[in-house]
Amino acid sequence: MSAELDELYQSIILDHNRRPRNFRTMDDASAHADGMNPLCGDQFTVWLKLDGDQISDVSFQGSGCAISKASASLMTAAVKGKTKAEVEQLFERFHGVVTGKHPEHAESLGSLKAFGGVSRFPLRVKCASLAWHAMHAALEQDGGGPGGPGGPGSPGSPAASKVSTE
Ligand SMILES: [Zn+2]
Repeated sequence: MSAELDELYQSIILDHNRRPRNFRTMDDASAHADGMNPLCGDQFTVWLKLDGDQISDVSFQGSGCAISKASASLMTAAVKGKTKAEVEQLFERFHGVVTGKHPEHAESLGSLKAFGGVSRFPLRVKCASLAWHAMHAALEQDGGGPGGPGGPGSPGSPAASKVSTE
């Protein structure tokens, strides 16, 4: 990665850390989940609202390092308006890029590829993927996960689940 690109990506991360998008709680969410990264002290909750299969609104709150906060902010911006399947697919590609397993997917990530550089820092991978793991957990909670005809859970009371990043 060139120094210029590094700088561009750094400025995206700094901007989202300073002015996180969708940084609020949500009272009428369809589901929410907590994400924790004890190694760094990052702790975030992600809320989402579903309109059928589509994510009509998403928000997050919590605290953590610049990488985890910026990643959560960019994640909320990226998934809004997408279907569950599209989000899971995006998460898979993002995860492949930040872990360094599938760097070839970086080009399809838009601003999210700003986090491609963390693949060089294994501890930072958890920071960058924390909010995504929480989003994934929240999606699984609602409707029994992708492809499922609806889980056995009561739809009226969204339960929180805890996830830790791998
Ligand atoms: Zn962190």
